Amino acid sequence: MPRKVEKKNKKNESKIKSTQENKPPKFRFVCQKCGTCCQSEDIIISIPDLTRWVVDNTIYRVMHLLKIIGEEGSYKIILKKDDDGYCNLYHSDNKLCTIYETRPLICRSFPLCYDGEKYKLKSKTCVGLEKDGMTKDQLKNIRDDAFEEYIAFRQINQVLPVLYGLIFTKLIEDSQEFMQKISDSENVKDLGDLADKEENQKESK
Ligand code: SF4
Ligand code: SF4
Repeated sequence: MPRKVEKKNKKNESKIKSTQENKPPKFRFVCQKCGTCCQSEDIIISIPDLTRWVVDNTIYRVMHLLKIIGEEGSYKIILKKDDDGYCNLYHSDNKLCTIYETRPLICRSFPLCYDGEKYKLKSKTCVGLEKDGMTKDQLKNIRDDAFEEYIAFRQINQVLPVLYGLIFTKLIEDSQEFMQKISDSENVKDLGDLADKEENQKESK
């Protein structure tokens, strides 16, 4: 390549690079701690959340707040909300999450989500959007969390109906076995009563 052309190409490349560097990032966000997302969303819990909570003992704090909703084939585990519609783990006085360090993936990634192809906004009304100050590490973390959330919810959508089916079948089998035992013991009792009756009749002759 002639030297002149090479020089021109380099100049163009650095011009493009500098334009890209100066371009504001598409996703600008700094949480304003308004608490709106702790009120408006269904807080869906994933298998990695449950696993983490078992390991760090948070499960003892949240177990009574978990419930399964949905219909066969589309079950979800969610965190129950209080009468005002807030997540029960939200502290309204100081506007903080009481399990912040180990909060669910759905909260970590908010307001970002991943749909299998690209990153999107879960909410366009979050007041933290368009606020400058997010570091590269924070951006990487929120993207990683959104990606992990996508994988985790696919997993739970596939696994939960199967688990539910297995547990339901086991409960039916256990209850049938229990009923059979009762029925057998009643038969034994009847036989015992019959034997006693015959014995009494013999003695009275
Ligand atoms: S993520 Fe958005 S909606 Fe949630 S507390 Fe922060 S600013 Fe408010
Ligand atoms: S778990 Fe924490 S961050 Fe998530 S909704 Fe509840 S209070 Fe908010």
